[in-house]
Amino acid sequence: MLILHGTGVSNGIAIGKAYVMQRDHPEVPEYVLPAHLVDDEVERFLRAIELGRSQLQSIRSHIPKTAPPEIASIIDTHLLILEDTMITDAPIETIRQKQCNAEWALKTQAERLSAVFEQMEDPYLRNKKTDVGQVVDRVLNNLLRPSDHQTHEQISDALAGQIVIAADLTPADTVILKHNRVAAFVTGLGGPISHTAILARSLGIPAIVAAHNATRYIRNGEELIVDGKRGALIVAPEKAVVAEYRQRQKDIVHLRRELETLKASPAVTRDGHAIGLLANIELPEDIKAVAKVAAGGVGLYRSEFLFMNRRGLPDEDEQFKAYVRVVKALADKPVTIRTLDLGADKQVDGGSHGNAVVTNPALGLRAVRLCLHDTGLFIPQLRAILRASAHGRVQIMIPMLSSLDELFRVLELIEATKTELTRSGEKFDADIPIGGMIEVPAAAVSADLFARHLDFLSIGTNDLIQYTLAIDRLDEAVNYLYDPLHPAVLRLIANTLRAGRDAGIPVAMCGEMAGDPRYTRLLLGLGLTQFSMHPSALLEIKKIVRESTLAELRELAERIMQAHDTRELHQLVEDMNGM
Ligand code: PEP
Ligand code: MG
Repeated sequence: MLILHGTGVSNGIAIGKAYVMQRDHPEVPEYVLPAHLVDDEVERFLRAIELGRSQLQSIRSHIPKTAPPEIASIIDTHLLILEDTMITDAPIETIRQKQCNAEWALKTQAERLSAVFEQMEDPYLRNKKTDVGQVVDRVLNNLLRPSDHQTHEQISDALAGQIVIAADLTPADTVILKHNRVAAFVTGLGGPISHTAILARSLGIPAIVAAHNATRYIRNGEELIVDGKRGALIVAPEKAVVAEYRQRQKDIVHLRRELETLKASPAVTRDGHAIGLLANIELPEDIKAVAKVAAGGVGLYRSEFLFMNRRGLPDEDEQFKAYVRVVKALADKPVTIRTLDLGADKQVDGGSHGNAVVTNPALGLRAVRLCLHDTGLFIPQLRAILRASAHGRVQIMIPMLSSLDELFRVLELIEATKTELTRSGEKFDADIPIGGMIEVPAAAVSADLFARHLDFLSIGTNDLIQYTLAIDRLDEAVNYLYDPLHPAVLRLIANTLRAGRDAGIPVAMCGEMAGDPRYTRLLLGLGLTQFSMHPSALLEIKKIVRESTLAELRELAERIMQAHDTRELHQLVEDMNGM
């Protein structure tokens, strides 16, 4: 029995046989062409692109109707990439100028693009590098093996119930895997926010990524167990282990059924304290998932997703319509629209911010800094949010605040926008609550100052931990240092909660920590009353809330805050969870 570890990205347990998918990156030859063959080479390149297009269209038409809409949108993204002049025209120019073969022209262009994507700060955009790479590989395969391209039919055989092991998987592969009822998949590459991981979660396939040696150690047909929660892949498990995991599978089914019964129950602790459980969403389509768990509202609407996967920016009206769709669906529940949290990136904004190489993008011109730098981007969004507030309970939330000056400038712009809307007779909620994200240590330390000027605060632990502990949240090499229980992080959280209490304003948390059941009791004990998270986590958190007695947790949380060393602190949190 051998246990390999990776990053668990989609919960669940699968027991089955291995199907090892070997798909190496194509070896790309380089050669010079005689001048009279250059036109033919361009033709050959265009045919490979065309073939790629028909392959993707074929995959798109095989997406099951029950699949979430983001799956089709990923295939659409690949189709769009295939139309981009960076992929189509640039290599043709290279073929003509250098008289080189099409594969080489495409490969060198892909490397240039990859370097540009490497510099991007936004994790979503950095993931686009993977999409571009997948499209390029598809075209390269078509060039190198025109009669051997893999279509959905070819990898569809006999996959049902098997555990797919691959170096990497494209989103298109993932669709097909679901279509063919695979039990789980494990990839050697990838991260928790890759498209493949997002798809696995939304399709409900247990999955592990970054299991670096998986394709090397596992043979076809070998018996495997995938533990998607822990990121463990057990090869050739002993009988007793299989039995244990079968029992766990049953427990999971049982737990899911039990959780579903909690949908209509209130999120109230044993000693009668009501806790707000809200949802994080990225796109208007996500409101279905919000309704499924009857969330108390939207605590974080990452509005920047509307600006991605497209050419050009959405104008005020398009934004307004997207926001109104969410606001109406939520009826009388609050919708917290976060203003743009984009990086300095030409992909998203159509190039208005140039191509400068940013040495440390996480510390660069992003989020509110970018919005204040480019009010042409910011004002239409403020107008759209304000106009949407006439249709329901909207709140505005400002990301990445680090100084009061920044906040004052935002508040002035909101006031000016309101005046403008009043002048033109547009309706909006004049008392729209304005909140700020506390995700930069400077803001957490001086949360009391921010609290005086805002209607609510929301702690963004993803960035707060990154900045406090100086750990790039995208850098695998320092992932092990990412610790929400670091005393510095806990003190900043406690300080922010205290600032909210003193100012009499609510404090929410919308980072991943809020949806992680390991931290629910501690956060309740520290005084957090509003948790915003991915909808799929909500019922599990509700169960913990309903089983908790706040008075007890407060005492324990106080002891945890006094703990001297990390081991003791982690142990105390574990004890708290075992209560
Ligand atoms: C956070 O930083 O915790 C947060 C919620 O924002 P994002 O993950 O979108 O940066
Ligand atoms: Mg953030």
